[in-house]
Amino acid sequence: MLPRRHMEIVKAVREAGVVGAGGAGFPAHVKLEADAEYVLANGAECEPLLHKDAELTETYVDQVLRGMEFSMQATGADKAIFGIKAKRTRTVALLEEATKSKKIKIQLFGDYYPAGDEFVLVYECTGRLIPPGGIPLQVGTVVHNSETLYNIAEAVEGRSVTRKILTIAGEVATPMSMAVPVGITLREAIDIAGGPTTRDYSVFVGGLMMGKLVEDLSQPVTKTTGGLIVLPTSHRLVQRVLTPNKAMHRIGKSACDQCSYCTEFCPRYLLGYDVQPHKVMRTLGFTASGKHNWSKWADLCCACGLCTLYACPEDLFPKEACDQAIADRKDAGLERWLGPSTEVKAHPMEGGRHVPLKALMQKLGVTSYNVPAPWHDIDYEARKVTLPLSQHVGTPSEAVVRAGDKVRAGQLVADIPEGKLGARIHSSIEGTVTTVNGSVTIEKI
Ligand code: SF4
Ligand code: SF4
Repeated sequence: MLPRRHMEIVKAVREAGVVGAGGAGFPAHVKLEADAEYVLANGAECEPLLHKDAELTETYVDQVLRGMEFSMQATGADKAIFGIKAKRTRTVALLEEATKSKKIKIQLFGDYYPAGDEFVLVYECTGRLIPPGGIPLQVGTVVHNSETLYNIAEAVEGRSVTRKILTIAGEVATPMSMAVPVGITLREAIDIAGGPTTRDYSVFVGGLMMGKLVEDLSQPVTKTTGGLIVLPTSHRLVQRVLTPNKAMHRIGKSACDQCSYCTEFCPRYLLGYDVQPHKVMRTLGFTASGKHNWSKWADLCCACGLCTLYACPEDLFPKEACDQAIADRKDAGLERWLGPSTEVKAHPMEGGRHVPLKALMQKLGVTSYNVPAPWHDIDYEARKVTLPLSQHVGTPSEAVVRAGDKVRAGQLVADIPEGKLGARIHSSIEGTVTTVNGSVTIEKI
């Protein structure tokens, strides 16, 4: 049983609907219920062109650090480390000043991708390796992204999650970082940044490496939307993503020369996990019967995209072959391959094969978009918001409002089903509920 003070923090975070804001969407109160030795702040932000975590930390450093202290109290952790890239010099200086009298240490990372991968971050901060297929708690650590920590502090101070921090970058008039009401459309968010500066454009949501190309800009911003990057539709990256899977695999089957660069640069392989995309590429030429034994080398892939978008000299699609292999093995009911042993040992070249972000951006063809996206305090008057009942890991929330109900900003509109893993949802505007189906829509009418 948690001491009273700890329970109050967990309860406040649960009530406020805090989820992992870095993209994962895991309910934060569940992480805080655990006992841990370390609280780690993930401020490494390694997706090219996204700057929201550093901008938020710079603007609200005390609030982010308070979130860290609340997390330490809740989990009983007596150590805390803030992981951030050394290149964020202004943010680092502010953190150094603000942590002088605190138990929080700062760990500086080089400017490489994917420094923000949870497995990499835990290893860099503590020297510990999460067991294959495991979670940070198994090595005594709880990891929260900077924005999640900000939301934890807000929750303890009585404010629910109704805003999402975004970076809008690429072909927009004013690249910026800002907080917008959860539930506005992606199109509205882009328009706040001055709108697209090119006629035919495509939008990556959540990053160029691990995000998705989204066609429907009327989709809502959710609690896990990471950032929006607008690129001309003719951009090579957009065209690569638009390649049909069948074509990706057909090209791979004939052109892969098994050079194994995809494996040699794979960050999970370098940490010592048994991920070997070059072997998975071989399955493209196999019949269904031989396939699954070789597909297993995809099972510990974290979909970072480095093999497809950087490592492969032939511009093939090993990451997509891994995605396919994982799906096929799941369909076949095969057990997840965790490697030959639960003991993991980092590769001797782990520290020497990090991919510099600069080189990655060059390869992606986005260097010209690498400009600051400074924080803007915006006061956006949304007329309508759409709040999906599932914007977190776990069971969808259950609406507690009906069409016609009047709601205040911050009011609970959907709750966690009894006994399930989930997160509560609150209205981000004052208005009238107009529809309740898979989402709750609220309009100012
Ligand atoms: S890097 Fe490309 S060519 Fe080399 S093994 Fe991997 S997929 Fe094949
Ligand atoms: S996407 Fe490629 S580089 Fe990244 S973890 Fe998977 S196999 Fe490794």
